[in-house]
Amino acid sequence: MSQVDMERFRGLLLEERGRVVAAIEYLHGENAGSLEDETGEETQGDQHLADAATATHDRELDYGLEDDADNVLRQIDAALERIEAGTYGTCRICGKPIGEERLEARPWTDLCIDDARRLER
Ligand SMILES: [Zn+2]
Repeated sequence: MSQVDMERFRGLLLEERGRVVAAIEYLHGENAGSLEDETGEETQGDQHLADAATATHDRELDYGLEDDADNVLRQIDAALERIEAGTYGTCRICGKPIGEERLEARPWTDLCIDDARRLER
């Protein structure tokens, strides 16, 4: 991946990071905690997150829970580290380049579409 592309994706990641951090701060509010609760349901009535989800709907972003947002944040930070290390955009399982369309949809991903599908099953 060229330096120009790296910079472009760094921009996308930082932008996304800002949104996720805002969502997490909103969710934490006054009752921080229950981070390890693993449910897969959508959070209802969360305006901040709903806005974020709507704004980025076409980028298949729909983390709806606090722990999902935390998870995305960790992945974004890891992706930024990979940009620094020069390994960004490479699948961590097969080592092949991740498609640019996929990176635009999920700039924090470290899996190619084939491995992501395999793991999701
Ligand atoms: Zn792969």
